[in-house]
Amino acid sequence: MKAVVKFARGPGHVALREVDEPRPGPGQAKVQVEAAGVCGSDLHIYHDEIKINIVPPVVMGHEFSGVIVEVGPGLRGYQPGDRVTCETTAESCGTCLQCRTGHYNMCATRKVVGYAVDGCFARYCVVNERQLHRLPDEVDLVSGALTEPLACCVHAVLDLTRISAGDMVAITGPGPIGLLCLQLVKAAGACAVICGTPQDAERLALARQWGADATLDVPAQDVIEWLNAHTGGLGADVWLECSGAPAAARLGLMATRRRGQYTQVGLFSGPFELDFSLVAYKELQVTGGLGQRWPAWERSLALMRQGRVDTKRLASHTLPLTEWREAFRMVEQKQGLKIMLQPVD
Ligand SMILES: [Zn+2]
Ligand SMILES: [Zn+2]
Repeated sequence: MKAVVKFARGPGHVALREVDEPRPGPGQAKVQVEAAGVCGSDLHIYHDEIKINIVPPVVMGHEFSGVIVEVGPGLRGYQPGDRVTCETTAESCGTCLQCRTGHYNMCATRKVVGYAVDGCFARYCVVNERQLHRLPDEVDLVSGALTEPLACCVHAVLDLTRISAGDMVAITGPGPIGLLCLQLVKAAGACAVICGTPQDAERLALARQWGADATLDVPAQDVIEWLNAHTGGLGADVWLECSGAPAAARLGLMATRRRGQYTQVGLFSGPFELDFSLVAYKELQVTGGLGQRWPAWERSLALMRQGRVDTKRLASHTLPLTEWREAFRMVEQKQGLKIMLQPVD
């Protein structure tokens, strides 16, 4: 089968290759990939600039849905024909503090799909039973393929942050992750203001269509002034930083109210200067999320099934797998919103 393979460490070293079809071992399922999303982190793998273990040669891709076509010995909960999506933690040690307390996304030796274990940029992918989540009937395959980025947001925004109805929540970065966070903030009954740069004009227009209470164009509009005017001078109750831009983090620490919450959802490209004393002066509660755990996956599927979150409308373009290079270019240049790859036979 054709697969997009990271075949060596270092920048680049990615190619469309002919690889053997995988076979399900004990407790595993072979999934026919029906839809796959290209993630910003796939670009980080391409450029080899992410602090998550990459073990080449590896088939890339970790956001997908599909149909089970074969099950290995001992797999009982699923059968061929089942529509599924799959968790990105393929293996974790099971014995460390993080694993034993259920935080397997934080296991130091975990192996991630598309990084250290073959992923979904291919016709077939083999996964362990504990990675599988069944798609509800109401969730189509394209929506289901985007459960993974939604689960990242659910983990960071609903599991690690407390958002209450009536909160003023500021979101920086109107990319796919920011727009999913927006939908979660609205589902939680809070007020959402989403901030972007002039480059984000189209994405900010989508944010307004999708329920943002306000969108702010930075630096033309003064975010702190706007927040003060709409909160009686308090500032944001919650700040969700989804852009990975140092300026957005600096602004977040300044514009979040005393005893407010700041959550880092995006990743920065490297270290930068920040006035971290503000965390003490204002007693800010600062946290960040990476990946997801089982509850975030199930909650994501429930939110889609209930129609409270729509992931499908993020899928702006679909390209055949053979055009992966163009898809990666579009993600790099922020064209469209979510670029989907369609496996080819
Ligand atoms: Zn992703
Ligand atoms: Zn562990």
